Amino acid sequence: MECLYLLIIVGPDSRPGSLRLSGSSIVMEVSVSHKLLLFNLEFFLLLLLYHSFGYICALRYCVMWVLQSPQIVRQVPLQSHLCYTCHASSRLPASFVSLNPSAKPVKGDGANNQLIQSLCRGGDLKQAIQVLGNEPNPSQQTCELLIYYCAQKNSLSDGIDVHRQLVDGGLDQDPFLATKLINMYYELGSVDHACKVFDETRERTVYVWNALFRALAMVGRGKELLDLYGQMNSTGVSSDRFTYTYALKACVVSELSVCPLRKGMEIHAHILRHGYEANIHVMTTLLDVYAKFGRVSYANSVFSGMPVKNFVSWSAMIACYAKNEMPMKALELFWQMMLEARESVPNSVTMVNVVQACGALAALELGKLIHAYILRRGLDSILPVRSALITMYGRCGEIELGQRVFDNMNNRDVVSWNSLISIYGMHGFGKKAIQIFENMIHQGISPSYISFITVLGACSHAGLVEEGKFLFKSMHSRYRVHPGMEHYACMVDLLGRANRLDEAMKVIQDMRSEPGPTVWGSLLGSCRIHCNVELAETASTMLFELEPNNAGNYVLLADIYAEAKMWSHVKSVKKLLESRDLQKIPGCSWIVIKRKIYSFVSVDENSIEIEALRALLIKLLTEMKEQQGYVPLTNIVHYDLGEEEKERILLGHSEKLAVAFGLINTEKGEIIRITKNLRLCEDCHTVTKFISKFANREILVRDVNRFHRFRDGVCSCGDYW
Ligand SMILES: [Zn+2]
Ligand SMILES: [Zn+2]
Repeated sequence: MECLYLLIIVGPDSRPGSLRLSGSSIVMEVSVSHKLLLFNLEFFLLLLLYHSFGYICALRYCVMWVLQSPQIVRQVPLQSHLCYTCHASSRLPASFVSLNPSAKPVKGDGANNQLIQSLCRGGDLKQAIQVLGNEPNPSQQTCELLIYYCAQKNSLSDGIDVHRQLVDGGLDQDPFLATKLINMYYELGSVDHACKVFDETRERTVYVWNALFRALAMVGRGKELLDLYGQMNSTGVSSDRFTYTYALKACVVSELSVCPLRKGMEIHAHILRHGYEANIHVMTTLLDVYAKFGRVSYANSVFSGMPVKNFVSWSAMIACYAKNEMPMKALELFWQMMLEARESVPNSVTMVNVVQACGALAALELGKLIHAYILRRGLDSILPVRSALITMYGRCGEIELGQRVFDNMNNRDVVSWNSLISIYGMHGFGKKAIQIFENMIHQGISPSYISFITVLGACSHAGLVEEGKFLFKSMHSRYRVHPGMEHYACMVDLLGRANRLDEAMKVIQDMRSEPGPTVWGSLLGSCRIHCNVELAETASTMLFELEPNNAGNYVLLADIYAEAKMWSHVKSVKKLLESRDLQKIPGCSWIVIKRKIYSFVSVDENSIEIEALRALLIKLLTEMKEQQGYVPLTNIVHYDLGEEEKERILLGHSEKLAVAFGLINTEKGEIIRITKNLRLCEDCHTVTKFISKFANREILVRDVNRFHRFRDGVCSCGDYW
């Protein structure tokens, strides 16, 4: 139907003015003060019929009749519904008011509410706001609808306009509308306006507080949120589950001077005191907070204490393990979920974490099983799942399988491309990684922040200094991606590894922001490779200040001093480490044999099994000394000990034990796959190269940075790692 609305303007004497046809609408005009009335649809159709057949007299008669029959005119509920329907199906852009701009509705009786609402629903927000100006008593529902449509239309200026009119009418003090206004401003991206609404609202119900908390939490203004949360508690308004959820989220996003974890614990206590410990949403968010701060045991106790768990809680706990470097636990919990919680079907988010855990463990067979499960559940069409699969195969040493997953994707986002770039990068195929990066751009996908981290990392592992420098320069100039801390860290790593430490230092000095621990950490790592004591001291001074509790930095510095044979310095670094009550992270390697994971720790153990492995290693190393002139790199042992004792320590390195275990427990021709939590040491690298040749076995070692594929006495990294 062309047009289904009609304007009738009635003068005080209830006589209609002249009838005029405007487009496909029928308009009557009078010159005196007017009243806007809406029409009954059936009657309107009759009018339309008369109109289309040119029965103007009949039309006029009908209108007269309507105006003299108050029962028809006053059928407001029926009319409002019809009016809405009419508007929704109307193709005519003009609206009631614009048909006769001189018509000023009579103020004061709220008659415009229906009109405003129907205009909103019909998409004519501007007109609706104009009518609002003539309506001193808009209903709460009308205002709510206006606010809703301002957000829907994504129009901040309209939102501000409506807000101003509500302030003029004193309606902004209605806590319900204040809540809606805050939500609207958040959705329109102006949290400052939302704060202003909040500040001006005198009666703050829990909904008003929650609306602002939500806005602040979503934009990462955690500190403000927590300050306000304190205020709310002192005003006596009781928190509800949403309040707790937002306050907990604030702990994660805030950069507080006080420890956000402690704040989280305070809120935890609050939750217990107010009986919310059985609320699944609140407790899952709490679990997330503990997970985020690496408090796995706290997270676990929250999880085990939950009387009811849904798949979100299970997933949160699995993610907690996966993100806190406990992939084994993540997988165990996943199996438990499958067995115990049959109603909690894992979703794509769970599966991403599970796939990541397989990748972290380099558990290829398990990963394939999980992949099969994903296919069966039809979750493989979900992009993050696919991207996680690509990375998983890469981390298990199977680039081809990763590439195959990528090739089979119908559509790819930047994350899938990044995954592919990263797996080539970690295997040392820098040129290929750059080529994929360029392909991605060629396909019309803009590189993201992460794309540059992966491609620069790939350059670094392959020693592609010039290519890396070029990409780094093009980041902002060509792709408008601002270099962040991670990119600078990549550049320092790239230059540092290539023994261009001065240039690396220059990159740090030219940074616009304060270099963070990742940047200094990259420099220290490079100093360790090239034994540069002076720069190492500069970097570690900064690092001890920035992350005083990271034991790894102290160990690296001690390594450098040890290599430079500065034993007194080694001692003092170790004292510092002890005085701060920190412990060196033990080297740990693991190997998957027949779907079972075996892990080895670099500590002095004397179990029978370890002794057997040592015996095998001694046999191999003696051979190696005789045949290849192998000299154990004892200088990397930073204890001032005799050579023999140092050799013994080297022999106990977890990766060597894992290699020996692999030699004994795998078939000839089978690839030995080992994963290590730290960087592979020089001595283990040399020894593994030799074993690959001597035992005629391919050995794949993934250390914390990259892959090493040892074959026939050579490593794929070309001794550059
Ligand atoms: Zn080693
Ligand atoms: Zn290597």
